[in-house]
Amino acid sequence: MSKILTLIEISPTGEIRSTAAELIGAASKLGDPVAVLAVTPNTLNDVAASLGRLGAHEVYIAESALVGRKIAVAEVEALAIAMQATGSEVVLVANSVDGRDIAARLAIRSGAGIIVDAVDIRLDSERVVATHSIFGGSYSTESVIEGGATVITVRPGAIGDRATAVDPAIVTLALNETTALAAVIDEHNDTPVVSARPELRGASRVVSGGRGLGSLQNFELVEQLADSLGAALGASRAAVDAGYVQQSAQVGQTGTTVSPQLYVALGISGAIQHRAGMQTAKTIVAINKDSEAPIFDVADFGIVGDVFKVVPQLINAIEARKSTENA
Ligand code: FAD
Repeated sequence: MSKILTLIEISPTGEIRSTAAELIGAASKLGDPVAVLAVTPNTLNDVAASLGRLGAHEVYIAESALVGRKIAVAEVEALAIAMQATGSEVVLVANSVDGRDIAARLAIRSGAGIIVDAVDIRLDSERVVATHSIFGGSYSTESVIEGGATVITVRPGAIGDRATAVDPAIVTLALNETTALAAVIDEHNDTPVVSARPELRGASRVVSGGRGLGSLQNFELVEQLADSLGAALGASRAAVDAGYVQQSAQVGQTGTTVSPQLYVALGISGAIQHRAGMQTAKTIVAINKDSEAPIFDVADFGIVGDVFKVVPQLINAIEARKSTENA
C-alpha cells in the first residue's frame, strides 16, 4: 500500500477542520498520507505547513471559485485528479454531511467502491478492512471492497491514531472545467460561537447530562464538570426536550455521534438511542442513582449515586489535582 488520499475539510472561515488529524492519522496506518483540499482563491496561508505537522507527506491544493458556491464539486474534482496523479486507490473522507456527499460523488465518478461510517481501518494482505459499529454499538462488523479503488468515510472522533510530523511536498492542482450538477450556495451565514468549549463532534472529552439533572438550573452542574475537564457539552434527548440545553448538544441516534477518549454520562439512563451515539467512546464513566440503569452495561467505570452529591466532589478533586500539578 502506498499513498493514501485524505480529503481535508476547510471551514468557511478558512480553518482546517478537526477531522484532518484523524484522517491523516488513519491514513498513516495504511501507507503514506496525502492531504487533498480545495480552497477559494487567495485564502491560503500556512495550511500546507499545518497539514505537514499532522503528518501529510504531500499536500495537493486546488484553488477554485467553485468552493463555497457549488456543494462538493471542487472537492470531487480535486480528489479525482489527485487519484490519477498519485495512482492512489484509497481515499479517506470524514463521515460529515459534506464528506458523505463528496465520497458518494467521487465513488461514482471514479468507479470506486464505497464504505461508509468506518470506526477503524487496518491493512490485511494489501486489502483495506474497515470496522463498523452497528445496532447502537452492540456489534462490530468489518467490510472490504473486493478489487478496485476504495472510498471510505470515517466517523469523526473514532480513530485516535496520529501520524508523525513531516515536511510535506506541495502540489498545486488545476481543476478541469466542470458542468457537474450540484446545489448552489446562495448565501452563507456563520452561526456565532457562543461557547469557548470544544465542539461536540470530534471532541476528545464529552460530559453529557440527562433528565436526571431535573432542571435548567441544575444542568449547570454538567457544564461545570465539562469546563473542569476541558470537555464538550452533551445531553440526552430527554434533557434537550425538557429545555435544559440546546438541541445541538444532543448525543444519539437523532443527534450527534461522538467517539471521544472520555465520555461522562450524568443522570442518563442509557436508552439504545442514546447509546447509538456514544458507545464507541474509549472510556465511558456513568453516574446514576439507579444501579440497574442500562448505561452501566456499557460503562467502564460506574458510580451508583446522586449526581448532586458525586459531581461536586469530582469537580473539587479535579481542581485540587490541577492546583497540585501547577504548583
Ligand atoms: P431517562 O431515561 O428519564 O433517565 C434519567 C436517568 O437519570 C435515570 O436513569 C435515573 O435513574 C437518573 N437519575 C435521576 N435523578 C438522578 C440523580 N439525582 N442522580 C443520578 N441519577 C439520577 N435519546 C437520546 O439521548 N438521543 C437520541 O438521539 C435519541 N433519539 C431517539 C430517537 C427515537 C426515534 C426515539 C423513539 C427516541 C430517541 N431518544 C434519544 C430518546 C431515548 O429513547 C430516551 O428517552 C432518552 O435517551 C432518555 O434520556 P435520559 O436518559 O436523560 O432520561
